[in-house]
Amino acid sequence: MSNSKNGISFFENVNRNFDKAAQFTSHPKGLLEQIKGCNSVYSFQFPVRTSRGLEVLRGWRVEHSYHKLPVKGGIRYSENVDEDEVKALAALMTYKCAVVDVPFGGAKGAIKFNPKNYGANDVELITRRYTSELIRKNYIGPGVDVPAPDYGSGPREMAWIADTYATFNPGRIDALACVTGKPVAEGGVRGRTEATGRGIFYGLQEACDNSEDMKALGLTKGLAGKRIVVQGLGNVGYHAAKFCQEGGGVIVALAEYEGAIYNPKGLDLDAVVKHRKETGSILKFPGATDVPNSLEALELDCDILIPAALEEQITQSNAPRIKAKIIGEGANGPTTVDAEEILLKKRVMVIPDMYLNAGGVTVSYFEWLKNLSHVRFGRMDKRFEHSAFDKMLRAVEESTGRSFKEHERVAITKGPDEIDLVNSGLEETMTGAYNQIRDIKKSNPKIPDLRTAAFLNAIEKIATAYMELGIFP
Ligand code: NAD
Repeated sequence: MSNSKNGISFFENVNRNFDKAAQFTSHPKGLLEQIKGCNSVYSFQFPVRTSRGLEVLRGWRVEHSYHKLPVKGGIRYSENVDEDEVKALAALMTYKCAVVDVPFGGAKGAIKFNPKNYGANDVELITRRYTSELIRKNYIGPGVDVPAPDYGSGPREMAWIADTYATFNPGRIDALACVTGKPVAEGGVRGRTEATGRGIFYGLQEACDNSEDMKALGLTKGLAGKRIVVQGLGNVGYHAAKFCQEGGGVIVALAEYEGAIYNPKGLDLDAVVKHRKETGSILKFPGATDVPNSLEALELDCDILIPAALEEQITQSNAPRIKAKIIGEGANGPTTVDAEEILLKKRVMVIPDMYLNAGGVTVSYFEWLKNLSHVRFGRMDKRFEHSAFDKMLRAVEESTGRSFKEHERVAITKGPDEIDLVNSGLEETMTGAYNQIRDIKKSNPKIPDLRTAAFLNAIEKIATAYMELGIFP
């Protein structure tokens, strides 16, 4: 998981991408330096008595940019994590939030341990102890810093974090807004779990719906029928594959750490997941060919490759053999800068992580809004809208003499539930942001790729925020 595959660290990779975009701006060096660096890095150790005995664990919280508050970003649980990686991920969060107009600065946290080696009680203890370290230094709070899940952590951990924060802040009415990605029963929002994967689907769909761009890649318009390879069957990979399959995409290969499987006619995603649960492995799935070296799956013949597991999976060593026409980055930082140069020469379209996997933080933003407003989305307007549409239908029936069938009436008059509003807000965000990035790229033929366009978009928005604060003229 850690950085530095080719002597260049993950954070350096992010900054090289930043520099590539910054040359298209006329902002003073000082302002660009302020945007690029991490505003605050909190590295700490804490003792914890787990069922394995007394242990001292390392934790981080990196707050990358205070141009907007609170800052926001996930907490990674991994034994391979290091400070450089947390800084890189925190920086990506800043740019990501800017690209999708989520009004937060970026942050990221980590605990260096492998949760799979511990029971639930130990993970709870570690999570609560980590949270109290954040509280101690004011690195968590609804208006300060709002964590979320990342690799190795999930809704369960977020519920423990919220509970610990609320315990240390009795009577604080907005305490639940201190963390997002919580279970719905603990203040979460419907649609958050699948949001990143759904956002990837909306982004890919928007890209594939552009006939001019698809023609340039030698592909037909539309996601339907596109052959897709997905690496990583976790939260992001599974949901991206699921929604793409529902949208007509054909999942031809799936890769997990134990190996990959390939079937050019398509794999039934849920049947593969069931098979893996039953046998403990993705391999030996009926009708599919095994690819024992999981990384080789990235080189299989396909239209779209979605790396959704880890960073630095596409490097200069395998990039020349990649056959996909579109790379949809589900994971953070899966493509190194050197690899991307090779891919661009091969005219591959890389849809960058900082845009494509922003669905999670977008819906986290909706969750934060819900927690601050203390009301479920749709509660105030669902019935009102139902009745307004019903009145409209009756008026149409009276004036035309046409009677709507019952199923038509139900479909047309249904007021929105929380999930409908969340998905609608997510789709609007992802499609709008894609077209912003595409327009920036189109506006200047010297801008080489969508990543540079996305960085440029983010830099301009963050620079404007700093200028509005009066910090830079
Ligand atoms: P996860 O832990 O749910 O899933 C990761 C999956 O990748 C696991 O199933 C794991 O077994 C698999 N994997 C590990 N090593 C592998 C390898 N070498 N080859 C193939 N598969 C391998 O994590 P996630 O939440 O899905 O996150 C995945 C990536 O997406 C990370 O880079 C994360 O930072 C990024 N991301 C996550 C979210 C989110 O909302 N969860 C949002 C944005 C970005």
